[in-house]
Order: sequence, then C-alpha cells, then structure tokens
Amino acid sequence: MSNPLLETTGLPKFDEIKPHHAVPALETLITAHNRKLDNLLAANRTPKFESIIEPIENMYHELNRTWSPISHLQSVLDSVEWREAYNKSLPLITKHSTDLLQNRQLHDAYQQVSDSMPTQASKQKLALLNKELRDFHLAGVTLAKDAKTRYKSVRQELTKLEANFDQNLQDATDAWHYNTTQAANLAGLPASIKQRAKSNAKKHGLKGWRLQLDLPNYQAVLTHADSRKMRETFYKAYNTRASDEADNANWDNSTNIEKILALRHEMAQLVGFENYAEYSLATKMASNVDEVINFLTELATKARPVAERELTEIQRGKSIPMQAWDIAYNLEKFKEERFSISDDLLRQYFPFITVTKGMFSLAEKLFNVSIKENPDVSGWHETVQHFEITDTNNHLIGSFYTDLFSRQGKRGGAWMDECVIRKELSGQIESPVGFLVCNFPPPDSEGLSLLTHTEVVTLFHEFGHMLHHLLTKVSYPSIAGINGVPWDGVELPSQFMENFAWCYEVLVESSGHCETGERLPKEMFEKMNNGRHFGEGLATLRQVEFALFDFYVHAFYNSSQGSRAMDVLREVRQNVAVINYPEFNRLPHSFSHIFSGGYAAGYYSYKWAEVMAADAFSAFEEEGILNQATAQRFKQEILEIGGSADFLDAYISFRGRKPTLDALLKQKDIGTN
Ligand SMILES: [Zn+2]
Repeated sequence: MSNPLLETTGLPKFDEIKPHHAVPALETLITAHNRKLDNLLAANRTPKFESIIEPIENMYHELNRTWSPISHLQSVLDSVEWREAYNKSLPLITKHSTDLLQNRQLHDAYQQVSDSMPTQASKQKLALLNKELRDFHLAGVTLAKDAKTRYKSVRQELTKLEANFDQNLQDATDAWHYNTTQAANLAGLPASIKQRAKSNAKKHGLKGWRLQLDLPNYQAVLTHADSRKMRETFYKAYNTRASDEADNANWDNSTNIEKILALRHEMAQLVGFENYAEYSLATKMASNVDEVINFLTELATKARPVAERELTEIQRGKSIPMQAWDIAYNLEKFKEERFSISDDLLRQYFPFITVTKGMFSLAEKLFNVSIKENPDVSGWHETVQHFEITDTNNHLIGSFYTDLFSRQGKRGGAWMDECVIRKELSGQIESPVGFLVCNFPPPDSEGLSLLTHTEVVTLFHEFGHMLHHLLTKVSYPSIAGINGVPWDGVELPSQFMENFAWCYEVLVESSGHCETGERLPKEMFEKMNNGRHFGEGLATLRQVEFALFDFYVHAFYNSSQGSRAMDVLREVRQNVAVINYPEFNRLPHSFSHIFSGGYAAGYYSYKWAEVMAADAFSAFEEEGILNQATAQRFKQEILEIGGSADFLDAYISFRGRKPTLDALLKQKDIGTN
C-alpha cells in the first residue's frame, strides 16, 4: 500500500493524505532510521562530518517532512480521526527524538567529529555541532540509566499533557455559542460580523443571530458591542475557557497545568538545572533568570504611568468604574472621538486580497524576490492558496501555503509553521515550504474578507516568520531558517515586519476600499498614526504581565507547594496591572503559548525581540524605509543565517552595535517624556 506521507519529493499531497496514513508512515520511517543509524555507527570507527552528520541531517529532514503535515492537518482540520491519529503519532515521534538525543554512542561520534574539526571549518558545520552537542546534554545523554529512563518518560508524559491542554481549549472554544433574537443586543457590531452570525443561526436552524467564540467574534464584541451585558458575557466565556470557572467543566485544564509545571520542573532538575526557567534559558539569548526579570520589570516601570494615564483618560466622565470588559470598547470610543478614527471604518480599506498583494510587493522590493500564486497546487481547504517565491533569475527559493480564515475545528490564533525545511546536501537543494495560518473573518458570499488594521499587523508578523523560514541560505536542516535560532531572537523578523504595516507608503499599496477601490487616504492614515500610541501603555503592561507570570511560575516552582499558578498570577497582577481583573479570570487555562506552544519560560521573548525589531527598523527609518542596501544587509545578516551564527553577533553585524531599548520606547511613546 502506498502511503502519501512517505513520499519525500515535491509538495505533500494534501488531497491524498488521510488520518490513517499517519501512524504507519511514522512507524515505517522510524524503523528504517533506526536501522540506518545502527549501520552508520557500526561503519564509522572514525566518524567524519560527511559520513555521519550529513546522513543524520537527511534523516531529520525526512522525518520532519512526514511529521509536519500530520501536526499541521490536526491543527487546521481537527476531526475525531485527525486528533486520534495525532495523539497516537505524538508518542512515537517524541520517543524517537529522545532516543536519538540520549544515544551515547551517537553523542560520542558528534563529539569526535567536533574535536577533529579544523578551526577554519565552515561556520555552518561548527554551529551545527555545537547546537547538537548542547541538545544531547539537555536531553540527559550522560545521565545514569535510571535518570535517563525517567527523563524519557517525563518527556513523553509532557507531550501528551500539552496536546491535551490544547485540545481541551479548542473543544471548550468550539462548544460555546451565543444566540439572540434581539437585534438590540448586537448594536455597535460591524455589519460583517452580524451577517456571519445571521447565516450561522440559519445553518443551525435557529432564529436571529448565533455567534461562536472565535477570535474575530470575541474581539469584535469586546471592541464594539454597545451592550455592556453582552461584552461581559463574552469576556467571561472567553476568559474562563477550559477552566474550573467555565459553565461546562468538561475541559478543565487545572490538572494539566499542575502536572505540566511539576514535570517540567522535574525534567529540568534531572539534567542539572535549578528550575525550568534556567533550563529554558540554556537555548536563549538572555543569560540568566535575573536578566529576564530585570528586563521585564524595567519595561513595566516605564509603561505603568503611561497605562495609568490612558486609563484615566478613558474613565473620564463615566460614573461606573471600568471593568476588564470595558477597556477595549472605551479605548475604541476614545480613539474615535479624539483621533476621529474607527476600526470599522478602516476595515473597509483592507480587503485581505489587497493587503496580501501589497505585503508581497513590499517583500519583492525589499528583498529582490518575486512572489506568485500557483493555483495548481491543492491544499486542505477551499480557501487555501499556494505561493512561490523566486529570485531575480527566476530560480525557486521556496513556497508557502496560506490558510487565513477562522472556521470550526481550526486552532485559534495565527502562526507560521515549517512544512519542508531547506536542505542542501551533496549539491542537491531542497527548497523550503511553509504554512501561514491566521484566523481572520471568513470571506462572505462574494469572497470578501475585511481585516482590521490589527489583523493587517498580524499578517505582516506571520509573514516575517515566513521570510525567515524561506530566505535562509543554510544547508543543514537542524540550523536552517528558524531552527537553532534562540527563541528570544525568533520574534525579531516577525515584529520587524509589523513596523511596515505602520508606513504610509506600504499601506497605500496594501489598501483599497471594498466598494470604491480607493487607496487609504493620507489624512486617514495620519489620524490612525496619531492614535497609534494611545493604548500602548496598557498593551505593554498586559504583555509584561503575561511574560512575568510565565517566567515566575516556571522559575519559582516549588515541589512541596505545587505551582500556585493562580496565586502567582494574582501577585504579578498586583504588582504590574492597572486594571481590575475579575476573580473568575482564568488566564493560565487558555495560555496555550506556554502550556502547549513552546513559549514556556520564554513568553518574554516577544518583548525581548521587540527591542531588537524596533532598533532594527530604526535603521530603515534612518536610511530609508525601502532602502535596498539596508534591506539587503538585514537579509544577509539576519534572515539568511538561521542558527549558523551567534544571533547577537549577527545583529551587531547588521546594526553596527548592540540593540538598545530606546527605539522601542520611542516607537511606543513610553518613558521618553
Ligand atoms: Zn511570532
């Protein structure tokens, strides 16, 4: 029986891949790889880079190619069958990767290759060896047998719990809905949201309007619904998802949180760290726990007075004290009055097709590439598109899929993921392929989806990750693109690209009124830009609050007391937040970034990398937004190098100096007055 997941050339055949292919494909591949590995180790008495490391890189690449569609399809096309296939596949791949990293003989072979490497060897080879040797140690390669076995089972258990955390969250989100027959309840909501709610009700045989809890709906209600009651209802539903405070306790993540934190702590201690935060920092730019805490505290101190001022402004003239579900709404109203801008008015200028076109054209200009749709490639859903990116000689650099709209069974949020990682071994180039996934409002019957400016920024962000993944020139998959890049550096290209969504020359190319086609008027942009900073104090504090919670809960875990997750959160909020959070708020229970998404003790990375992103962008402000030489330098020093160089050194090569906090503070208008 042929298995499409085992075809290792060309693009994955998404129209043929089915859940029942997942487990057999992984089993076949892992068995074959184990055999190959035994042969390699037996044949390599004196291991050489080419004779052992390259074949392992090939295996890594192959395995990733097979695994990537499984994990991707489960997240965008969740069904009972896909979830089951994914949950059965996950232990196989986790065990295999831990087996490899705990293989002492393999480690010794890497060590021997590393020891015999001439100092003038290629930077890529040296970086790859360093990274892999570090990862062997982080997986406990030198531990005694019992500790190794324990590490492995902790890792297995963690992967299972993290997947369960995510699935609970998705089920809890999908299960909730709001149905009303009173038009008055929907006052203030954008027409597109109401229209979607109406057809949703019809689909379910209901009268009136039916709204689910997806992100576009949640944000629209919190920002625009005039009914305070409705905002509160949505706020409560959204912020108690998968928790003990939810109406439906089927998907409570409380135990998952407790177990995940306990196991992470144990795992870190097994391999010689005090706590999981220290373990996490072993692969990041920040050097120790204090450095991260000090960084976040400084940011909070600078942002707090600004946030307080903002809160006072939006509270002015109102008799009822502001609650958590009033903030976004009143911020929006304030901006409408003070700066004469409205999210909903702006949205008319940002049909997704026009926005993507403008964004691609920006990348074409900056990085000397060309991006074209290939309509012949089939995806996994009717709204999926495929694009190819080529150089000036029309050579293929890589390609990517876009899946931009929210739907039932699709994980919330926005992300970029690798489909195929770049590889150049034995003179053969395998070009990278990526997935760009968002949850924008689904297109209406005419194919129109209008984005808020915030959504435009999100799209630019994820596209920045995509460029990082696609423009890499590194040959070895383990350190190509985003691989081997310290996690607190990975958000640099993405947040860097966000800045362009605030440039008039870019926005004018990326906008077109949905009825008239008129570009975003300069005057409107100026209003929008004037209002840009308002709310930044509150937004920064919120991010710092998330980051501190994540960091404290991992750094100060105490085995005898357990995680105290909610207490830690309350303490952080007491010190940092300026708004009152209701007692029922259960942020941890839906904080998938840290409990299932790889940002554990690393959520601070957003702010850390934002400092570099703002500082990097200030080079463009100084030298010209579309300056070719600056863009070329950014491409060469940052986007192309993957994990083949020290990230800070690379940054310095681009900027001529270390990043400073100033550009970010100036950009957000925080702490400079
Ligand atoms: Zn990102």
